[in-house]
Amino acid sequence: MSSGTKYVYFFGGGKSDGDASMRNLLGGKGANLAEMSNIGLPVPAGFTITTELCTYFYDNDRTYPPELKQQVEDAMKQVEQTMGAEFGSQENPLLLSCRSGARESMPGMMDTVLNIGLNDTTVEVLSKKSGNPAFAWDSYRRFIQMYGDVVMEVRPEAKEEDGYELILDEAREKAGVEYDSQLSVDQLKEVVTKFKKLIRDKAGKDFPTDPMEQVWGAVGAVFQSWMNDRAIVYRRQYGIPHSWGTAVNVQAMVFGNLGDDCATGVGLTRDCSMGAPGFNGDYLINAQGEDVVAGIRTPKRIEKTLGEDMPEAYKQLCNIGETLEQHYKDVQDIEFTVQQGKVWMLQTRNAKRTGFAAVRIAVDLVNEGLIDKKTALTKKRIPADDLNQLLQPIFDPAAKNKAIEDGTYLATGINAGPGAATGIICFHAEDAEAIQAKDPNVQLILVRRETSPEDLRGMRIAKGILTAFGGASSHAALVSRQMGKTCIVGCSELEIDYHEGTLSVGDKVLKTGDWISIDGFTGEVFAGKVETKPSEIIEVLIHKTRKPEDAETFQRYSQLMEWVDEIRTMKVRANAEPDDAAKAVAFGAEGVGLCRTEHMFFSHLDEIREMILAEEVETRQKAINKLLPFQREDFEILFKEMNGRPVTIRLLDPPLHEFLSEHHLHEQPDLAHKLADMVGAGKEFIYRRVEELKESNPMLGHRGCRLGIVYPEITAMQARAIMEAACNVQKAGIEVHPEIMIPLVGFKAELDNQTKVVREVAAEVLKEQGIEVAYTVGTMIEIPRAALRADEIAETAEFFSFGTNDLTQTTLGMSRDDYGGFIGFYQENDIIPSDPFQTVDQDGVGDLMKIGVERGRSTRSDLKIGICGEHGGDPASVIFCHKLGLNYVSCSPFRIPIARLAAAQAVLDS
Ligand code: PEP
Ligand code: MG
Repeated sequence: MSSGTKYVYFFGGGKSDGDASMRNLLGGKGANLAEMSNIGLPVPAGFTITTELCTYFYDNDRTYPPELKQQVEDAMKQVEQTMGAEFGSQENPLLLSCRSGARESMPGMMDTVLNIGLNDTTVEVLSKKSGNPAFAWDSYRRFIQMYGDVVMEVRPEAKEEDGYELILDEAREKAGVEYDSQLSVDQLKEVVTKFKKLIRDKAGKDFPTDPMEQVWGAVGAVFQSWMNDRAIVYRRQYGIPHSWGTAVNVQAMVFGNLGDDCATGVGLTRDCSMGAPGFNGDYLINAQGEDVVAGIRTPKRIEKTLGEDMPEAYKQLCNIGETLEQHYKDVQDIEFTVQQGKVWMLQTRNAKRTGFAAVRIAVDLVNEGLIDKKTALTKKRIPADDLNQLLQPIFDPAAKNKAIEDGTYLATGINAGPGAATGIICFHAEDAEAIQAKDPNVQLILVRRETSPEDLRGMRIAKGILTAFGGASSHAALVSRQMGKTCIVGCSELEIDYHEGTLSVGDKVLKTGDWISIDGFTGEVFAGKVETKPSEIIEVLIHKTRKPEDAETFQRYSQLMEWVDEIRTMKVRANAEPDDAAKAVAFGAEGVGLCRTEHMFFSHLDEIREMILAEEVETRQKAINKLLPFQREDFEILFKEMNGRPVTIRLLDPPLHEFLSEHHLHEQPDLAHKLADMVGAGKEFIYRRVEELKESNPMLGHRGCRLGIVYPEITAMQARAIMEAACNVQKAGIEVHPEIMIPLVGFKAELDNQTKVVREVAAEVLKEQGIEVAYTVGTMIEIPRAALRADEIAETAEFFSFGTNDLTQTTLGMSRDDYGGFIGFYQENDIIPSDPFQTVDQDGVGDLMKIGVERGRSTRSDLKIGICGEHGGDPASVIFCHKLGLNYVSCSPFRIPIARLAAAQAVLDS
């Protein structure tokens, strides 16, 4: 017996040293081979050399510990006994495979060697025993080729070079056949001789004939392949630590290429694209494993023809599939070989699936009694973000592949709003409106360098939005998500020329009116049309063009959401204006967490510009008075739609030049003239006021509560509009819960100032109207100082809402509109783990939130706290908010189902 650390774990014959729980040590493949053997499934015996050995290997100049040799020899004996064959034997030789198997699967990244143990003697024995010399010699030539390549590193780069493929080409040509499998035994023998000579010439030594030497060569090569370039790049991309190492599985060979009663294949216990039940997959008769994936022969579909081709094996496979699902309680992705009618299992693992399949499978497994609701809702089974796929239109996959083949791919940007959109290019909101006026059904994509609130009207019309600049929480991104529009931002390869009306990438030029297609799931942009498919759930919930009872996906979705709502404790609200409110409710919003009042102003630009241009209080008041009825009407709609749910309305936030700036005057040459007429002044006055409004850093300039403090009449008008609307709606018999929110507060004095204005106006309105309406006044926490001074701010504020867009911007000192230029580089180079404007930077911004919650509640223990930054719809951030003890998250309507699921997962996680 060997002593010291156990590096080698046997499996097979119904008993194994390991099991599925030992994934870290045995790798995914090794752990599941052991488990399958333990539950009595047919697994060719073998042994796993642990990931710990891999670590030892790299820590010790690529050498092995002394005890390894004996452990391998002991395990080899067990394999021989279980399989009833002997490695290297001249009567009954055992052949082996050697495969990698890391903790997380890294498909195709590391090396494999099959048919180990063959040499000039054993090939003859195999030939006799199988009664199939062509099979034996074909296996031998494959082995030499694989071993020569992987272990002896004889791998000619180009086909033209003197190499294996050239030798095979010549052999086929000489024999006048199309496939290697059609070569005769003598022709294969000639190929083997030539392969050996090739290796001797190139490697300077002979191909090893000693089976044990072959095993050690293969094991070493597989461990070495953990550090090949492909594997390193893959690990970097998927965040797999290099320190994990791979295990190596040495396993008895079974053959799918012994004749027509043999096959090899890969299968899924259910469909993983849409989730339908039923075993399915690919197989090839008379073939070896790699032939299925190599694409040389087109595989057949298991669900279609295996039952006819091999009824007995098909039955075994379906039974195995059922046993595996019952055991693992999840859909499995398997590899198998059929040898002379008997099925052997080579691998099983939980299958990867689309969002559609994830939902269907989870619901079906609960209904089948295999798992409970809580298990169905876990992050692993349904990553909350994947619900997106069920809500957004998608490109027809065949149409997208065709577009790629046709060379219409243009560039890739940041995938900010999922979905698929195709339309004609339009560069300006006004043009979009003009086009829509002529053709209400027009499909267009708004293409901008970046967007501003000015573009909102165009964004509403557009099917999708594409910008060259900006990041995941840029204006374009957040508004698109709120509207549920497909959106790609920061697509920096695009050159946009507004004057020429062109968009170009290299020498490809598209112009206004040309078709373009954007994939908001992947960030890919294509020239031309790619066909899309609508989402069933949207048809039922939003368009109401489909009955729920006719919509299976919808039914499963609503079943799932029922379970979600039973579990979660945190509320989910919407960032919504009146236009989005019905959508928000349909998606399950329990209130409005943020109504950005400025968005409503964009339908009344003349009045707001008049207000901005005013220099005197009286003229400003005159303009403001004109805005009052519009605002009131909007709030009435919002209160009615929300039907008794709480509605947080934020007072004016953006810097005023967003409504009127040099940029507007430049883009609309007759604007200055029009405005001058409107206010009864000269054009010089307009230019002077615009110049006065200009700021070098508007995000940190005169915005938020600073506007209301300097121009209290704006706050007063908004407070009046809110309270009058609330009274009118309450009088109409609908419950209202207005929550008035002051933006960008850093000092308690700022909040006090604005609260006083709001409360005075509210008291006035209630007196005028002669009724009582309960309302609260609270604040955004979006400036670090507000989080730090939350205890004193909570003396005035009746609620807090974290504005994590600005809180991230101000905490990180990173502009939310400009970070797109470097964030990609930061992520690729592991400077920061994720985009901080998408997922809360928990260590920094998150710490300030924690302080805000603790200090706020130290003053007011029942302080209601929510979040309304973009992070409110990001699953990881939602879970973080749950941990902080927030009462609700608020996000764009289309992210509500995701936030609901993430809130339930937060409970299951804790
Ligand atoms: C925020 O800053 O997080 C927020 C919600 O406000 P806005 O995005 O409108 O600045
Ligand atoms: Mg903000």
